Amino acid sequence: MKINLANIKKAQKLLNKGECVAIPTETVYGLAANAYSDKACKKIYKLKKRPQNNPLIVHYLNNQILKRDCSFNNDFLKLYKIFCPGPITFILNLKKNSKISKIVTNRKKTLAVRFPKHPVTRNLLKNLNFPLAAPSANLSSKVSAVNSADVKDDFGKKVKYILEGGKSSIGLESTIIDIRNKPKILRLGGLEISTIEKALNKKIITRNNPQKISSPGQLKLHYSPGIPIRLNVKKINKGEAYLSIKNMRKKKPNFYFLSKNGNLNEAAKNLYSILRKIKKNKHKSIAVGKIPNKGLGRTINDRLKRASKF
Ligand code: AMP
Ligand code: MG
Repeated sequence: MKINLANIKKAQKLLNKGECVAIPTETVYGLAANAYSDKACKKIYKLKKRPQNNPLIVHYLNNQILKRDCSFNNDFLKLYKIFCPGPITFILNLKKNSKISKIVTNRKKTLAVRFPKHPVTRNLLKNLNFPLAAPSANLSSKVSAVNSADVKDDFGKKVKYILEGGKSSIGLESTIIDIRNKPKILRLGGLEISTIEKALNKKIITRNNPQKISSPGQLKLHYSPGIPIRLNVKKINKGEAYLSIKNMRKKKPNFYFLSKNGNLNEAAKNLYSILRKIKKNKHKSIAVGKIPNKGLGRTINDRLKRASKF
């Protein structure tokens, strides 16, 4: 993708003034603000209608800059070298003298950090004196945005500027790992757990569904298109849209598919756009066929399960 420097300048100016700007990332679009400013970060919560106890992920250019705010260990460095920049978020301990706003962390002593890969956002980060707090650029509990039109649909003119970056190449949020002690997955995401396990050469616990919510990516209703969803469906009801993992030979106006031949990465990339499209086409509910529970299929099933708690 060609980088438009004038657009980046515009985003930079607004962020320096304490405004929110939507930014492209390889996972999903983010709603970004200066992570060192209480006032700027409050605007994110207000725009998204996000509960204040749901902390934000902070986006850094690299781990040298992160050193100002967080301490980290060897496991972090191992994963950083292999997967960053990329779709993985680390829970780390905040340093006492960190400048991160208390609004970002909900006064926790930990911080969720990520290094986005998208070249436009990397260029933007290079031009800022602060990291960016950025949750997904959608209304709270709804489907994430994977292109600038989705952001516009959710926020209209309320978001001052959307930095264009094309369609997100992964299309699912980052995998969240608490790396402080024994590594623990807190949210399934765009990076497969087995790949992380191989890199660390150890088994990792998954706490994707705990009693006590420590990471609201685990909240019950989340990622919802705003209409009911039924899973593992064999028989479709009247008025329902049918969503399958691959293109079916039978073509009907209420049939939608996530990929041509069942490729799970392609399906991940299409998931949120298709959920939005089905809602726009005024179907009353969605019946989803079986989706293989391997690779990114696990994350797709996780999102659909949460979206089905309607
Ligand atoms: P999103 O709104 O899609 O950006 O999701 C951000 C996720 O990161 C949410 O599920 C947050 O709860 C989670 N998160 C942010 N900070 C922390 C933290 N310090 N500990 C655990 N989870 C966190
Ligand atoms: Mg989100």
